[in-house]
Amino acid sequence: MTSGYPRPNAEHAVTVQAALAWAQQQGVTRLEAQVLLLHSAGHDLHDRAWLLSHGPDTLAAPVHLNFQTLVARRVAHEPVAYITGQKEFFGLPLLVDARVLDPRADTEVLVEWALSCLADVPDPHVVDLGTGSGAIALALKHSRPQADVWAVDLSADALVVAQANAQRLALPITWRQGSWCTALGDAQFDAIVSNPPYVADCDPHLQTLRHEPLSALAAGPDGLDDIRQIAQQAGSNLRPGGWLLLEHGFDQALAVHDVLLNAGFEQVQSRPDLAGILRCSGGRWPTMK
Ligand code: GLN
Repeated sequence: MTSGYPRPNAEHAVTVQAALAWAQQQGVTRLEAQVLLLHSAGHDLHDRAWLLSHGPDTLAAPVHLNFQTLVARRVAHEPVAYITGQKEFFGLPLLVDARVLDPRADTEVLVEWALSCLADVPDPHVVDLGTGSGAIALALKHSRPQADVWAVDLSADALVVAQANAQRLALPITWRQGSWCTALGDAQFDAIVSNPPYVADCDPHLQTLRHEPLSALAAGPDGLDDIRQIAQQAGSNLRPGGWLLLEHGFDQALAVHDVLLNAGFEQVQSRPDLAGILRCSGGRWPTMK
């Protein structure tokens, strides 16, 4: 924690406003500070109106201490989602913890793209490879209830989290434990969707992501090891005209295009994330091969 700021402690009464200002001085964003304070006080994380209407109120000492601890965890780069145990993805409330990657809003772009590829396919068959918390699979099933949605993860721990989310949301998914398409047998899909690990092993950015499972993040010297494997395998599990859609790093779009073209995909193209960076690339398995 940085020093030099008036640091609230249990001996001094601190207002809601002052606690939020202190947290921002420690380096957390305003929104994060608000969410952590609501969590510390046992309020619904959406109840920011409570913060506004209670700005001048004094925080109870236990709440204040709890808040200080949570802010310190965030300053040490722990995702807010792990601290609160929850994250909203595509409008769905998910339970998340350190067994799974913290679902990012940027990944919603991949879901939207998959939904548009499947828009004209009645009762589509779709799989999410490396499902983690189940975010992509559950978002697809929620948006297309008639779809037959499968989800794969190598991590038994991740599947426990994903299955708990599916149960809470009452969204039936077919689960498979294993490595990428090898977990699919000879099942055929209209779309294979994945947010695989794609960070280069030596990327210094991994240091700030150290609370998340390394197996969900790092993928070899150039970060493309898993994307190459998926692209090589996917054709055997795609129906003619089926799509493979992948999330990847901010500077990997061209490299992923090459991987997809070399693996035999057509109509290779990309989609930007919320910051306008080409973050997802995909291609179509030929109708005639
Ligand atoms: N988007 C994440 C990050 O770089 C990485 C997620 C992934 O490797 N699939 O912060």
